[in-house]
Amino acid sequence: MKRNKFTYKFLGIFSLFFIVHFTTNAQIASDYSNVKFLKMLDHDTSYVNLKKRIINDFIHAQPGHWGEFVKGVDEDFYTKQKYIAFTFDGCGGPKRNGYDAELINYMRKEKVPGTLFVTGKWIDANFKTFLALSKDTLFEIENHGLNHQPCSIDGESKYGIHGTANAAQAFDEIEANARKIEAITHRRPIYYRSATAFIDEAGARLASKLGITAISFQVLSGDAVPYTPVPVIEESVLQNIKPGAIVIMHFNHPEWNTYEAMQKIVPRLRQMGYHFVKLDEFKLRSEKK
Ligand SMILES: [Zn+2]
Repeated sequence: MKRNKFTYKFLGIFSLFFIVHFTTNAQIASDYSNVKFLKMLDHDTSYVNLKKRIINDFIHAQPGHWGEFVKGVDEDFYTKQKYIAFTFDGCGGPKRNGYDAELINYMRKEKVPGTLFVTGKWIDANFKTFLALSKDTLFEIENHGLNHQPCSIDGESKYGIHGTANAAQAFDEIEANARKIEAITHRRPIYYRSATAFIDEAGARLASKLGITAISFQVLSGDAVPYTPVPVIEESVLQNIKPGAIVIMHFNHPEWNTYEAMQKIVPRLRQMGYHFVKLDEFKLRSEKK
């Protein structure tokens, strides 16, 4: 009888802890949701004043060239050694909110570092996973935009995805997500890869005014074309690899062949003498500077 009472008491306390713990976590996740976070920034004078200044700077700006490799965008890094960086986008939004746990577990098992570009939308859909990734020193967290909109100051689109309509929206896309990531991880991202990697020259300049470097990639793995066969991804990477290359892949589509291809790519690159690094360990560069 006595033991039963104790058991019930213990279970009661345990359940209470369980409920408080999960309610608190859910509350924290919802406080950082894109909608709430933007509302909070609307009352943050440092954000509002910076936004006004940036909008003013770009009031008469021309967008310049639109593309993946325009002026102001970096695509690889300086090194004389056989170092390369794997980068993975977590795009977010309907049908883009997935998490490739097999890929991430494989990288952990093989101790392959990677740089993860995440959107605010992806964080909202995967808050607990995001927290765990941000605490894992194998991974560097960088900025893929708040709402996964290609970065334009005049409303360009790419692959049917609407870009930001003006400098104000481009500012929110870059800076609000940088602040959101910093608020959650206590580290401000230093790189920004626009959704689809398309950006205009003004957008790259805008990012630079925020202390953020716009980047694209040097080696296109091709994993983003759904159901690309493993050998195609493998060869796309292996045939184009060189020291200082930034390889672009995704970690938000477990149904694609990214993980399966990485199982082939990593051992082959190691045989070729390559080592894998995160982006913040090197100085990036662009051919167009
Ligand atoms: Zn993306």
